[in-house]
Amino acid sequence: MKIALIFALSLFYLPSECGEIKIGISYSNPPAKAEISCETKCVSGKNKFSRVIISARGQELIAEYPDRTEKLKKALIESEGKLRISYFKKSRTYYGKIYIEPYKNSLKIINICDLEKYLESVVSAEIRDLKNYEAYKAQAVIARTYTLVNIDRHKKSGFHICDNTHCQLYNGYENISPKAAQAVKETEGEILEYRGRPAWTFYHSICGGVTDSVWEIWPYEKKPYLRSVKDGPPVRPYCRNAPGFLWRTKIKFSKFEKFSQEKIFKAKLPLTGLSVSARTQAGRAKTLKFVSGKYEKTISVIDFYHIAGRYFGWEAIRSAMFDVSFEKFYVVFKGKGHGHGVGLCQHGADAMAELGYDYNQILEHYYKDLKLVRRKL
Ligand SMILES: [Zn+2]
Ligand SMILES: [Zn+2]
Repeated sequence: MKIALIFALSLFYLPSECGEIKIGISYSNPPAKAEISCETKCVSGKNKFSRVIISARGQELIAEYPDRTEKLKKALIESEGKLRISYFKKSRTYYGKIYIEPYKNSLKIINICDLEKYLESVVSAEIRDLKNYEAYKAQAVIARTYTLVNIDRHKKSGFHICDNTHCQLYNGYENISPKAAQAVKETEGEILEYRGRPAWTFYHSICGGVTDSVWEIWPYEKKPYLRSVKDGPPVRPYCRNAPGFLWRTKIKFSKFEKFSQEKIFKAKLPLTGLSVSARTQAGRAKTLKFVSGKYEKTISVIDFYHIAGRYFGWEAIRSAMFDVSFEKFYVVFKGKGHGHGVGLCQHGADAMAELGYDYNQILEHYYKDLKLVRRKL
């Protein structure tokens, strides 16, 4: 079935001014001081200046301009060109406006930016290693949809979405990929909808041959359109040539046993067995059983992923599609894919594009029963 492209007016998606999105900058680690400078002139109310250093002092901001200093309650800075924000030895450029207010002795920095400009940055950051243009277009639609679905995520903090991976990675208007920018422009306003609302467009890097139904990975997520799909022919999945399609992690037995004592058994018990005790329909490990003689402890692979990631590093267990075995002095995990395995497989999408599928067909392959619509956002 071909996805229909409908043009419709949207009155409910973006609660801010037309097409603008508010992005919390460095919200989880806010600076107490930042310098703002502008490509052309910075404008803030009646003030015009080239740069300003803003710092938080209690409930106030101290603004140091080249020629004077003033106290402010908040600051809204705009410029015709790009604005640069520097803090913590980082320096990034942004379009739109920068809003700053004091928050617990540091700065709450919000970039108010055109949604489509924001997406050019997000798509650039998300798929730097993909080659094919139709895959970029698919990613542009997904990122736009994801943004709308998450629009209320930081409502309490006064912005829509944050700039780190909690929402979507946004580094400002830095290192923009021309393909990403073009893909965003060409798909302007296009989103995926389920029953007239933006859909949850989960995606991941490499599925390893088959994606999983969302409820198999997160039981509380009941999204019928995020169901398992075979990613191409059985022995020739689309993502098979992706770097990291197969992975293998060897961990010294003594180190792994120490891990299981500290984090799993929470007692000094010898590790005598370890196995995958349940799998999803698509074959991902769902639970892991740790054995010490007659004692057993079963944990979900989601929990294991987080505990092991913090202990051994996030690259140790790259996906849940793995087998585990004891080999001489090692515990060996042999796996396929990278990421949670729900929704679109980015490397599979890239390979489909290489084979001549367009972004409609790619989206249709990974998300079931969704409509691609064009909204005026
Ligand atoms: Zn967030
Ligand atoms: Zn795949």
